[in-house]
Amino acid sequence: MKVLDKIIYKNVVDSTNDLAKKIARYGAANGTVIIAEEQTGGKGRLDRKFFSPRDKGLWFSIILRPNCLPNDAPKFTLMAAAAIACAMERFNLRAEIKWPNDIMYDGRKLVGILTEMSAEVERVNFIVVGIGINVNVERNEFPENIRDVAASLSEMNGGNLNRAEFFYAVLEEFDRLFAQNDFGEVFKIWRKYNITLGRNINVVEADSGEIFTGKAIDIAEDGALIVDIGGEVKTFYAGDVSIRTK
Ligand code: ADP
Repeated sequence: MKVLDKIIYKNVVDSTNDLAKKIARYGAANGTVIIAEEQTGGKGRLDRKFFSPRDKGLWFSIILRPNCLPNDAPKFTLMAAAAIACAMERFNLRAEIKWPNDIMYDGRKLVGILTEMSAEVERVNFIVVGIGINVNVERNEFPENIRDVAASLSEMNGGNLNRAEFFYAVLEEFDRLFAQNDFGEVFKIWRKYNITLGRNINVVEADSGEIFTGKAIDIAEDGALIVDIGGEVKTFYAGDVSIRTK
């Protein structure tokens, strides 16, 4: 590995993102990775809970100190999704990436990505990319309230996967993309596996809570989603997308 060569392994943590942000504030280096067997307070966006049971998945966070502007931070979410898609390909599994931060199987979430940042107006101090991958979680092990929206790689694979091998594959792919520092390549991979572009979607805009219905037409240079809403083009920086079947 060129960049991701410092791995901190924990048994239980509250949230790998919270711990990563804490040690980043104390100066943890670019490329530091924190992985835990279990998170007791795993989080999604807007402080939604992310179920992270012991020994069944990969719950980890990557600390990055890229030389970029705060507006570039969302692109690291796309980089993580692209890296996971490439890792899945090595296991003959085809990723379906849903903008902005999920990888899906059968319409259910396999992987959630949560990117957080500490920045000043013109400078990023650090970025934390949190990744939660359901690897060997059985359907009936998910809490009932997420059973219909969550999926696991084992289900897709028709049997358990070796978590250490899959983790290493994701790190290798992320390391390659980060060291390459070429978002052209990230966007190419992201487009190849995305299931959002060209589809009729509903978007709940994060800031306003407003719901829009339209067709996802493209992804912007900064990772934003461009949607055609009845002939008018609108750009979304954050939001929840659901794909409509017609
Ligand atoms: P989204 O990207 O779908 O908005 P978040 O990033 O906010 O989701 O993640 C939190 C949501 O994901 C929760 O509200 C819950 O519905 C779902 N969820 C929680 N834990 C898991 C898990 N282990 N696998 C899949 N989905 C989960």
